[in-house]
Amino acid sequence: MGAPATVRGWGGGSGVSVRLVRPRGLDELHRALAAARSSGGAIARGLGRSYGDAAQLSGELVIDTSGLTGFELDENRGTVTAQAGATLRELLAALVPRGWMVPVVPGTQHVTVAGAIAGDIHGKNQASRARSGPTWRRSACSPRTARCGS
Ligand SMILES: Cc1cc2nc3c(=O)[nH]c(=O)nc-3n(C[C@H](O)[C@H](O)[C@H](O)COP(=O)(O)OP(=O)(O)OC[C@H]3O[C@@H](n4cnc5c(N)ncnc54)[C@H](O)[C@@H]3O)c2cc1C
Repeated sequence: MGAPATVRGWGGGSGVSVRLVRPRGLDELHRALAAARSSGGAIARGLGRSYGDAAQLSGELVIDTSGLTGFELDENRGTVTAQAGATLRELLAALVPRGWMVPVVPGTQHVTVAGAIAGDIHGKNQASRARSGPTWRRSACSPRTARCGS
C-alpha cells in the first residue's frame, strides 16, 4: 500500500524514500492502519512542519493524516473535537470570531492538530481576555489494533 514518495522535514534535510498514503476518510485510515500492522512499520505525518525527521520513516509506510480535517466546536462545554488533520489555521478561522482560542499556537498556523499534540508544541499562548479552549486531549489511532478512539 502507498505510493512511492520522498519526504523530508521542514528544515530541508536529506529526504527519505517511503510509501505514502493519504487517507481521505476513516475507512481509508483503517485500511492504512491494517496495512501498517502487517508490514514493517509506519509513521503518521501531518503537514511536515517538523524541522527534522520526526515525520518520516525510511522505506516504510507514511500515513499522511492531513486529509482528515473535520472539527466541531461545542460552545457549551468549551471543547473542540477535531480530526487529526485539522489545521490550526482552520481552527483559528472558526474559533477566533466566536471569542475562542486554542490553548497554544506555534510560530506557524500551518500545523495539524495531531502534529501539535505529538510535537507538544509551545509558543504564543492566548491573549488574557480570550476564552481559552481546553488543553489538548489525544485520540489515538493505533496500528496495533487498527482502530481509532479516545
Ligand atoms: C515556521 C515554523 C515555526 C514554528 N514555530 C514553532 C513554535 O513556536 N513552537 C513549537 O513548538 N513548534 C514550532 N514549529 C514546529 C511545529 O509546530 C511542529 O513541528 C509541529 O509538530 C508540526 O506539525 P505538523 O502537522 O506539520 O506535523 P509533522 O511535522 O508532519 O509531524 C510531527 C509529529 O507529529 C506526528 N504526527 C503527525 N500526525 C499524527 C497523527 N495523526 N497521529 C499521531 N502522530 C502524528 C508525526 O509522526 C511527527 O512525530 C514551527 C515550525 C515552523 C515550520
